[in-house]
Amino acid sequence: MRKFVYQFSEGSKEMKHLLGGKGANLAEMTNIGLPVPPGFIISTAACNDYTDSNKHLSEDIFEEVKIHLAELEKQTGKIFGLAENPLLVSVRSGAPFSMPGMMDTVLNLGLNDATTNGLADLTNDQRSAFDSYRRFIQMFGDVVFEIPSYQFEQALSRIKKANHYQSDTELTTTDLTDLIAAYKQIFQQATGEAFPQDPLKQLKLAIIAVFKSWMNHRAVVYRRLHDIDASYGTAVNIQSMVFGNTGETSGTGITFTRNPSTGEKGVFGEFLLNAQGEDVVAGIRTPEPIATLKERMPTVYNELITICTLLENHYLDMQDIEFTIEKEKLYVLQTRNGKRTAKAAIQIAVDFVHEGKITKEEALIRIETKQLHQLLHPAFLESALKKAEIVAHGLPASPGAATGHIYFEAKDAVQAAERGISVILVRNETSPEDIEGMAKSTAILTAQGGMTSHAAVVARGMGKCCIAGCSDLTISQQEKTITLSTGEILQEGAALSLDGSTGNVYLGKVEQTEASIGGHFDELMAWADTEKQLAIRVNADTPADFQKALLFGAEGIGLCRTEHMFFDEKRILFVRQMILAESLTERETVLASLKEMQKEDFRALFRMADGRSVNIRLLDPPLHEFLPKSSQEIEQLANDMHKTVSQVKKRVQELAEANPMLGHRGCRLAITFPEIYRMQAEAIIESAITVYDEGIKVHPEIMIPLIATKNELSFIKKEIKQAIHTIFDRERVILPYDIGTMIEIPRACITADEIAEEAQFFSFGTNDLTQLTYGFSRDDATKFLADYYQHNILSKDPFMTIDKTGVGALVEMAVTRGRMTHANLKMGVCGEHGGDPESIQFFHQLGLSYVSCSPYRVPIARLAAAQAALNHKKQLAIQ
Ligand code: PEP
Ligand code: MG
Repeated sequence: MRKFVYQFSEGSKEMKHLLGGKGANLAEMTNIGLPVPPGFIISTAACNDYTDSNKHLSEDIFEEVKIHLAELEKQTGKIFGLAENPLLVSVRSGAPFSMPGMMDTVLNLGLNDATTNGLADLTNDQRSAFDSYRRFIQMFGDVVFEIPSYQFEQALSRIKKANHYQSDTELTTTDLTDLIAAYKQIFQQATGEAFPQDPLKQLKLAIIAVFKSWMNHRAVVYRRLHDIDASYGTAVNIQSMVFGNTGETSGTGITFTRNPSTGEKGVFGEFLLNAQGEDVVAGIRTPEPIATLKERMPTVYNELITICTLLENHYLDMQDIEFTIEKEKLYVLQTRNGKRTAKAAIQIAVDFVHEGKITKEEALIRIETKQLHQLLHPAFLESALKKAEIVAHGLPASPGAATGHIYFEAKDAVQAAERGISVILVRNETSPEDIEGMAKSTAILTAQGGMTSHAAVVARGMGKCCIAGCSDLTISQQEKTITLSTGEILQEGAALSLDGSTGNVYLGKVEQTEASIGGHFDELMAWADTEKQLAIRVNADTPADFQKALLFGAEGIGLCRTEHMFFDEKRILFVRQMILAESLTERETVLASLKEMQKEDFRALFRMADGRSVNIRLLDPPLHEFLPKSSQEIEQLANDMHKTVSQVKKRVQELAEANPMLGHRGCRLAITFPEIYRMQAEAIIESAITVYDEGIKVHPEIMIPLIATKNELSFIKKEIKQAIHTIFDRERVILPYDIGTMIEIPRACITADEIAEEAQFFSFGTNDLTQLTYGFSRDDATKFLADYYQHNILSKDPFMTIDKTGVGALVEMAVTRGRMTHANLKMGVCGEHGGDPESIQFFHQLGLSYVSCSPYRVPIARLAAAQAALNHKKQLAIQ
């Protein structure tokens, strides 16, 4: 028979897929002799068996559980369900990849009326026993029967209020007895059944609940956000309980071996005295910093520090460790690689290299490329901060600056974000149900909870600004208001600004600055640059964008969309005039003005490039983006062109297209009006000569868009070469330049060998190539792609990540055919995929020369290109 259940001693850290991350690490810690309460693991295979057999937990698996339970009884000397000496267990989920807060946990399982009394007698501590029982009823009710926890919280609040208690620890045994009765009643009302007294029934229901939670909405959303495969399933960890709620010499906490926000060395964490695990994570009480444990229980603190060092050295990564102290005895309940901000990830990886723990290659592989976005976020302008009013201060849970409008419910936040509003999600504390709202919000603000609360951990993972534990504020979820300490009330929609690095909350909107990157970032990036084989260029249309990209490490311009140079309010008028011109003379007059504008820009770009490659794409304006729309625009144009409004309207109608994306754009426009590209080529070459005369190296790449046939390219090339050579002759100078083409039409891929006869380079326009290969409109596909994801027809947006089997195959075909004509043909990518790590991996494998992406994605692309090269090296080593 197949084995589904494993003792901790049977596993190891390598068995994450079978035992889940938590289980594999519990097994590993058991085997290296750390104080782990004994237990066993029901494997992920059992979860898949449950899902595959129509959500039925097989009797065979449960029988196997019972065998391991008997073993646990032997190990602990306690008996499950025996009043005189009860074994209590925790039941926790554990997916192969960390999903914090996503899955459900039940503690104190095995308690019932009889075992609670038995435990009280045994420990001589009635209060702790009753406290554990009431927690169990609430958790079990919540997790297994989905009874909203606020119902339990209300009953608790009533008793606390009636007795004027500040904290749960003030509850007396009598209070707890009343609370247990109230909780049982809530349970009975919600489920129609009495609270189950049979521990085996409790266990079975809890295991099923964990398996079920693998497919709950928040888990599904989390997996989608983090690209985790649903077929993994979750394991279930059953572990004998230790009690952190047995008085002032007990407690529970979470510690990171390094600071997860900054990456600084030294343990970083918090704990709560006289409490159980979930209290810290749920953020119901605000915990104390770990340093105070040193004063309260120095021996335990020292032992904890030793364990932290040991685990970090064992796993060779920063660890996130959960511990419980029961009457001054320390137990480790979990260790895992800690979630961290991008800043911390870089700091830790580079420090580990300096400490000789890992190689530079390993450091590069460890950084999640997408996380780098966090470093590139804006901060508040110093001068604006001086004037801004701080209305509250909380814990700086996740760095970054954010400005937005407050919403109190996750669903309201989602709706507002979908209306284009920048949202700050405000909650007393977040729970996994809020995940979608958090994902759609710009920032998160909570009144309760510490640095390791759900809000803090999840926000950090998402790279979102978060302030937690902001108790200066009174948040009413019901009224949807925040009451400031001054008494001022903020309603839903009010604007706030949050600084996730200081914990300051400001009223209104505070002006922001660009992100700044520093610290170990440059060192890591320098390592990336030595590994990567792809050059990283930028898609920049303005000197300002290029400037930014150079700071981020761009090695040149891979795409300058010249039509974008005319988006400026004043310039667009000239483009419209050019499009609407009815004669060559009329068009040439406008082109002369446009040429001067282009020259000014090109000179600036060439100077800034200082010898780096600059690829300028000749005009590709989809007509609908440039034609005048409002009557005001038409009137102004008529005025400028000395025409009547009806003449302009008539011309606009003549030019209107049913499918502008498939219309008279790119090279097609230049086949009808060659003077347009001639003017642009002249502008490029004349600017290049000016800059060359200033002593700067220039070698422009002139790129023709939307080529489908060799003949189109030959026609245009002849026109522009003539114009260029006329300038060389006039100026008595010759400069190097290349003429190449975008490859963005499937026909161009298929006939790439022919096209290469006329091209000095190829640049893959994977945006149009995706549009034309799928036949999905670039502008409208998002409207229906959600349905494709829902039905598993597509798992990813093909406009974001290259569709390797379809669009990618066409790229590969073009690469091969292009090289058949010119073995060393320069080839790069300038579509959006040039900044997407997964696509970059693919382009590396095709042996392209470069990828080009938007300025903020340049560092991501540098790292992704290095990772692609390292992964490739690894693959070759295996073969
Ligand atoms: C492309 O199609 O991939 C491309 C870069 O050009 P554009 O996005 O300007 O159409
Ligand atoms: Mg294109």
